[in-house]
Amino acid sequence: MAEKKRLLTGDRPTGKLHLGHYVGSIANRVRLQEEYDSFFLVADLHMLTTKNTPEDIAQVDKNTRDMVLDMIAAGIDPDKVTYYLQSAIPEVSEMFTLFQSLVTVARLERLPSLKDMARDANVEMSFALLGYPILQAADILCVRGDLVPVGKDNIAHVEITREIARRFNHLYGETLPVPDGMVGEVPTLIGTGGKHKMSKSLGNAIMLSDSAKEVEKKVMSMYTDPKRISADVPGTVEGNPVFDYHDIFNPNKEEVEDLKTRYEAGKVGDVEVKEKLAVALNNFLEPMRERRAQFDEPGYVEEIIVKGTQVAREETQQTLYAMKKAMGLTGVWNRIRRKVEKYEKKKAKTAA
Ligand code: ATP
Ligand code: MG
Repeated sequence: MAEKKRLLTGDRPTGKLHLGHYVGSIANRVRLQEEYDSFFLVADLHMLTTKNTPEDIAQVDKNTRDMVLDMIAAGIDPDKVTYYLQSAIPEVSEMFTLFQSLVTVARLERLPSLKDMARDANVEMSFALLGYPILQAADILCVRGDLVPVGKDNIAHVEITREIARRFNHLYGETLPVPDGMVGEVPTLIGTGGKHKMSKSLGNAIMLSDSAKEVEKKVMSMYTDPKRISADVPGTVEGNPVFDYHDIFNPNKEEVEDLKTRYEAGKVGDVEVKEKLAVALNNFLEPMRERRAQFDEPGYVEEIIVKGTQVAREETQQTLYAMKKAMGLTGVWNRIRRKVEKYEKKKAKTAA
């Protein structure tokens, strides 16, 4: 059997995951884990490019745990994939350094994604933020990833990785694989407020870890058609988040069609539509709750991360060694050390 191709993708440890994350990336990962040897990195070094206070860093342990636990609960099986922590692999930073001379500042400055990130995080463009795509190249190439599933805004970064790998191979000889980015149709889920995309910090998110009661409460207060002041007023389905969610999460298509028809005819109240949505969402989340309960024991998720980090670190060490060998960089230190050995032998002889 041919070896499986490697997949690498990561997230900054910002905490618990919500339905938007599920729709945008987790569902895809659950599928891809069967076909690829998958590595999921917790990108805490990347987090430092926009959030680096001691308070931010103090959150990393808990956020990492919450995020990995959510991914496991969502069906990304720790027996099939490797979860690992970026900052626990110092060789990644070394690789990052070696890659820096393979990219120009002008190339990085042309990326709109970095300017957007600086603006969104309300920070000035730091040296680290400018180098974000180079660190990402180290992440991808350290485990010799073949495939990188990303959102549209990130595909330009994978292009930088490809350029770095090609330039490295051109200068020093074939060493690194040139990975492919994979931009699927990455759908954006609207938040419960109906205006902005679902986002943790906007308070418009349904978390994968919410209880059935919390889900009900959030659904019942969701934004719907504001023109509808009573159940007999015909409502609009288009752009109504309650129906967007029904379309995505309610497997009972007949029920959804029936609700839409009655809604547009002014023959169903918002309450019924929402109650049915809450049931559908809770049916969707229930298996995740069960799996989460199995893995929730303190130390269990941490053990998965530690074991995965060991695996990823060994891979990284191999890659880094191959790189330094190709560059002739291991030779420099060895030659210098050999001269010292000779010199010390000579000194010992003259002293004797
Ligand atoms: P924050 O409020 O702290 O920005 P967030 O909830 O917006 O958090 P991010 O950490 O910004 O989440 O998102 C990480 C990734 O998850 C995004 O790059 C995107 O791929 C995906 N994602 C986040 N929100 C959504 C959404 N509403 N719909 C689809 N994908 C999403
Ligand atoms: Mg965000």
